[in-house]
Amino acid sequence: MSTRRRTTRTARHSKAQCRKILRTLSEYLDNDLPKSVCREIRKHLGLCPKCEVFVHTLKRTINLCKKADVARLTASDKTKLRKEILSATSRV
Ligand SMILES: [Zn+2]
Repeated sequence: MSTRRRTTRTARHSKAQCRKILRTLSEYLDNDLPKSVCREIRKHLGLCPKCEVFVHTLKRTINLCKKADVARLTASDKTKLRKEILSATSRV
């Protein structure tokens, strides 16, 4: 039995984490983003060059954090964003 461990982690986080972030984003499109989630997403974006590629998509979503009470995404915005996020997820 092998007990070999993977120690080739170059990024600060795994692809799974990128996917998790993106999935979380799409989940929260229908709701307000809790502040803790916003913080997690921002932190991740700061650390992850891969996800920064999607920053334009994410930025719009993150705007929800700032003005959750003011601006809501329209249904078509959500559909568009969700598609973008999903395609981003499959590319990560
Ligand atoms: Zn990432």
